[in-house]
This record gives sequence, structure tokens and C-alpha cells, in this order.
Amino acid sequence: VLTESADRAAYEADWRKLYANPALAVALPHTPAQVSALVRLCAAHGIAIVPQGGNTGLVAGGVPVAGTPQLILSLARMNRILALDPQGDTITVQAGVTLQAVQEAAAAADKLFPVSFGAEGTAQIGGVISTNAGGVQVLSYGTLRAQVLGLEVVLADGRIWDGLRALRKDNTGLDLKQIFIGAEGTLGVITAACLKLSPSLNARATALIGVCGPEAALTLFQSLRAQSGSGLTLCEYISGPAMALANAPPPFAAPAYVLAELSAHDATADVTTALESALAAALDSGTATHAVLAQSHRERTALIALRESVPEGELATGGAIKHDIAVPLAAIPATLAAIEALFAEKYPTTRLNIFGHIGDGNLHVNVRPPAGKTLAALAAQKSAITQAIESLAVARGGSFSAEHGIGQIRLPGMSAHKSTVELDLMRAIKTALDPQNLLNPGKMIPPKES
Ligand SMILES: Cc1cc2nc3c(=O)[nH]c(=O)nc-3n(C[C@H](O)[C@H](O)[C@H](O)COP(=O)(O)OP(=O)(O)OC[C@H]3O[C@@H](n4cnc5c(N)ncnc54)[C@H](O)[C@@H]3O)c2cc1C
Repeated sequence: VLTESADRAAYEADWRKLYANPALAVALPHTPAQVSALVRLCAAHGIAIVPQGGNTGLVAGGVPVAGTPQLILSLARMNRILALDPQGDTITVQAGVTLQAVQEAAAAADKLFPVSFGAEGTAQIGGVISTNAGGVQVLSYGTLRAQVLGLEVVLADGRIWDGLRALRKDNTGLDLKQIFIGAEGTLGVITAACLKLSPSLNARATALIGVCGPEAALTLFQSLRAQSGSGLTLCEYISGPAMALANAPPPFAAPAYVLAELSAHDATADVTTALESALAAALDSGTATHAVLAQSHRERTALIALRESVPEGELATGGAIKHDIAVPLAAIPATLAAIEALFAEKYPTTRLNIFGHIGDGNLHVNVRPPAGKTLAALAAQKSAITQAIESLAVARGGSFSAEHGIGQIRLPGMSAHKSTVELDLMRAIKTALDPQNLLNPGKMIPPKES
């Protein structure tokens, strides 16, 4: 248990250092029984609990809120891989195992754990399940929800629910694990998970393609998808301004970029020829302006790093007001055009940084302060900017939070965009599972009066 302020500090501030409220202490239990004992003790004393994994979440869900006595419950020491079943294609891990450690354990058994994103070296399984994280391979494999077979969860009253099953079929009443996936620590503390593994990918072709803008990027995505189906395992959009924040200059200059990868399980599958012919057609038709195909594993890693380094480049150059919208695919060009037009008219000195998972309709529309200014310069306009971007997405049948969740940061969006029926259902579930409101209070579900 860490009680000194200096020891608590790293756990109290979120990844972007926007929120930092004091906790009474940070507890680092080793076992589910210790988690259970901590939860019972807190319940007896009316102390709230903030479950925390790698603390890489982008909506300040894993750090304390102001004004409530809270214990941060870090799962970091519960970091054991409990079992890997190569015949059943499953891996069972404690909640504090990092996403990268799961990927590496799967690869060592010649399997694939297909969830991947920039923070994978630090983000933990409990955290990625609790945010239902997506990442760059959702196209073929779905979000975290599609990978979870079973969970072990400590409930608000301290009881341990052992739902750690490795079954692909189990229609025995309500599928309780689904309640905890994406619940952001508000309904229980996940202590272990059984996850699905997939066959490993043994042939890959990766390309960075120049395009004129979102419309061409979407056309390219659709032609690659039509050609390769679920063999298109990665398709990311990076606007020109976003690419300028990457860890290295791109191999060519273009108004915008698409990073695409075709993969196959069969090592002899000729995915390179398939990608080359698709890119030749895109260049011929004018959909693409340039294309570079990775010639080695090192070149592939470098191309992927261009995309994955954008959020860190953004943070290192002063940060941004971040957004995480999703819209139906066909609405992407019009939504982005409407956003660009709005900013040209109302906020002409701000800098839009747009990138994301184009095949999922999920784009990060981040707003950087004017050149030479800090994020504080946008403080007065922040909520109007966020409301405008989120409303433009929701008005087109979209979402104001595609993959990062709600935490503290997106609560106004819940009040603005969720129906009374949806909010009432969420509150009913919360009250049933956590009647004292001690699990991660002030996150995800807005209070009734707001
Ligand atoms: C550089 C970068 C890139 C990213 N890219 C993507 C991306 O492409 N796609 C995407 O979906 N997300 C992305 N994210 C955000 C993603 O949501 C988080 O990185 C990750 O899912 C959170 O895991 P964590 O272990 O750090 O959780 P934390 O930040 O510690 O916690 C996140 C939430 O889960 C809760 N929680 C944590 N552990 C538990 C537990 N054991 N039981 C119950 N509740 C728990 C917390 O209370 C909090 O509400 C990115 C983040 C960064 C920093």
C-alpha cells in the first residue's frame, strides 16, 4: 500500500496529465482474495475504489475524481499468465498482464492475439477489457469484446464471481461477462480473463499509400476490402497534418495517407502480389497518388510506427482537444468536410489533427492550439469545440466515443447524446451491482440531475 504523496503521484495523474486528484492510498494486491478483502474493507468504511491497469486510458477513467475519498486499486502486480491451451486456442491471464505480454505469449505458441495499438506495452488486459479497446485490427477481429470467453470479477460486495470459462458456446442464461466488458471499472474489478487466440498470420504485405483526402481513402479501403475480405487486417487513415507529428518523415509527401496491410495464415500465400495489383489499379484510376510497399520486416515496422507514433507526437508538441468519433462509412467524407468547414469559419487558427481507423468509421478528430500557443489558449472554447464535433458525428448516425470510452472526459456527451431510456437502463444496472456507488464513482454514467 502506497500512502506517501510522491509514491501516489504517478497513479493519480492520467496519461495526458490533464487530471490529477488525490487518492487516500494506492493498493497493489497480488491475488483475487486480496482484491476481495480490499473491496470489503472499503465498502465497510464508505471508501470508493478506482480500479487501475496501465493508466493509459484517454478519458481519465482510471484516476480519481475530485472530492471523494478513494483508494486506487492497481492490478499491476497481478501479472501472471495462468494457462495457454494451444488446442482450444485460449489464453487465461491475470488482469495486470500487459497486452504486449499476451501477444508475445500467443506468438511463442505460434498463435495470434489480434488486438494491437500504440499503448500495448503498458496497457493491461483488465484495462483493455474494461474500455472494450479496439485498435488497428478490429476490421478482421473485432474489439476486445469479441476476444473474451470468460472473466473473474470481484463484485462491489467483495464476492468473487468465477466466470473464467473457456467456452465458445454457453447459452446458460444471461451472458454476465458482457456487463463487465466496457464497464470502465464501474461494476466490478476484473481480476482475470480467458481470451480467444487466433491462428498466427504468416504472410503479410504492408503499404503506405498517398491519397488526396478522405473520399479517396474510403474508395481505396472499399476496393481492398472487396478484393481481400478479412485478409485486409489493417487500414488506417493519416491526414497530412497528422503525419507531420509522426516519429519520422514519410517516404513521400501527400495530402493524406492510408496504411494498409493484407495478411494470410498460409506462409506461402502471395499477399504481396495481391496488394501490388490492388495498388496498381488505385494508381491507374487516380485513387492513389503514391504507394510504397514494405520490403522487409524492418520496413513494415517503420511504416506502422509512423501511424502509431502520431498520438505521442501530438502529446509531445503540446497536446490537443481529443475526439474519438465514429460514423457510418459512407458518412466519413461529408462529416470531415463539415468539420473542416466549421473550423475554417469559427476557429481558423486552430490546427486539426485527423487520423484513425477508417475501415471502422472511427476517426480521431483532434484540435491542436494555434502555432506557438499552448492548449490553455483553447480553454474557453474547449467545450463548444467538443460539442460541435461530437454533434456533427451523432447527427450523421454516429458515436461521440468510438473506442476510448467515457471516463470523466466524455460525461457531457452522455448527457447530451444518450436517450433517457439508455441512461435509465445503465443507472439501473449500476444500482443493482453497486448500490453504494463505490466502484469508480463519477465515471461513465452522468448523475441523474445533469
Ligand atoms: C498511445 C495510445 C494509443 C492508444 N490507441 C488506442 C487504439 O488504437 N484503440 C483503442 O481502443 N484505445 C487506444 N488507446 C486507449 C486505450 O483505451 C487504453 O490504452 C487501454 O485500453 C487502457 O488500458 P489500461 O490498462 O491502461 O487501463 P487504465 O487506463 O488503467 O484504465 C482504463 C479504465 O479501465 C478501468 N480498469 C482498469 N483495470 C481494470 C480492472 N482490472 N477491472 C475493472 N476496471 C478496470 C479503469 O478504472 C478505467 O476506467 C490508446 C492509448 C494510448 C495512450
